[in-house]
Amino acid sequence: MKIAAIKTFLMQAGAPSDSAWASDGKGHQTGSRNWLFVKVATDEGVYGVGECSGWPRVIETAVEDLASILVGEDPADIERLWQKMMVAQMAHGMTGVVGAGAMSGIDMALWDIKGKALGTPVWNLLGGRVRERVRIYSHAATPEVALALKARGITAVKTGGVRDPLRKVAAIREAVGLEMDLMVDLHGPPWMTPKDAILLGRALEPYQLLFVEDPVAPENLEGLARVAAGIALPVAAGERRATIWGWREMIEREMVDVIQPDTGRAGGLSQMKKLAGMAEAHHIMVAPHSGTLGPVAEFAALHLLAAIPNALMLERIENDWPGRNEVISAPPVLEGGHLLVPTAPGLGVDIDEAAIARYPSVRNVSIAAGGYEPGTAGEHVYVQTRLRRAAAFGRPPEGS
Ligand SMILES: [Mg+2]
Repeated sequence: MKIAAIKTFLMQAGAPSDSAWASDGKGHQTGSRNWLFVKVATDEGVYGVGECSGWPRVIETAVEDLASILVGEDPADIERLWQKMMVAQMAHGMTGVVGAGAMSGIDMALWDIKGKALGTPVWNLLGGRVRERVRIYSHAATPEVALALKARGITAVKTGGVRDPLRKVAAIREAVGLEMDLMVDLHGPPWMTPKDAILLGRALEPYQLLFVEDPVAPENLEGLARVAAGIALPVAAGERRATIWGWREMIEREMVDVIQPDTGRAGGLSQMKKLAGMAEAHHIMVAPHSGTLGPVAEFAALHLLAAIPNALMLERIENDWPGRNEVISAPPVLEGGHLLVPTAPGLGVDIDEAAIARYPSVRNVSIAAGGYEPGTAGEHVYVQTRLRRAAAFGRPPEGS
């Protein structure tokens, strides 16, 4: 079998007029995201699908460029082709999100082909099943949304954002009680300084969180280590990292308790399986990032989490844009707060090319809308001390 062609399918999830990833506050996603799917076709008619994340409109070009070195190759040689793609990227291996996103989608599709060719699910190729269903967590900005998710059987929710994370955590914890797991994502921009993150992390300690996510900017590994040492809550990070070398220091120095590789940009299932092993040796759990991802990467994550012992859970936007289920053959089955692990050969999902074509990508939508608002995402600066610190930490501003 030989790779005959690699095609890309770029689309925009959500209304084109929506300018950024956002929520209506009632648990529905209203923002817009670009999704990029790939299809690797072979000369024997078998094909595989994958998904690339990070900067989809630019990754499309990277996929087309990598296709030129993959056509004619045997798709079964996944590791060799991964190495070939890595070396091809400016020949020095620093992939960035564009390179890693392109490799991830192609690698995913190669695993799909192998599974289909052998008539077995991808989890079987990754070592077999440790579990038949994967626990998920969803997003909630208010107690009402968290309670609605709880009523549907979801057992864990995450809240967060630049504005008022402490108040959100306190309100949700009070509403849902202690039997539901609760997490908070403190990501920027603007990213917090390490000292702000420690102050906020300590204020969050009474709420018994499963983890505190991304307390500092992804480049700030030393800051992450300081935060982890300075608060009595587990820390999760890493959705923007790629390859085993991009993760090595964070894992080896045990800066986090949970790693969150993004299935569309961590380097593919090939890298994620290795990462999971590295994490396992350090008693670190794996909870793949999936907030902005489309539905194909979600299937890939389910196969990985089925096959590794240290799977914590999978991020999932319940109440996502309705077109999410339109662009694939069928969504995964949710049952009691868990997604069932697919059992069809390969990844168990296909893309609907006609449906994807109905939602063309029109532009970059990753920049938050809004004008200059100091201390908020609208300020459009990368790192900034929280100017609304008193509000974020749940205390009235001095002098008020
Ligand atoms: Mg996050």
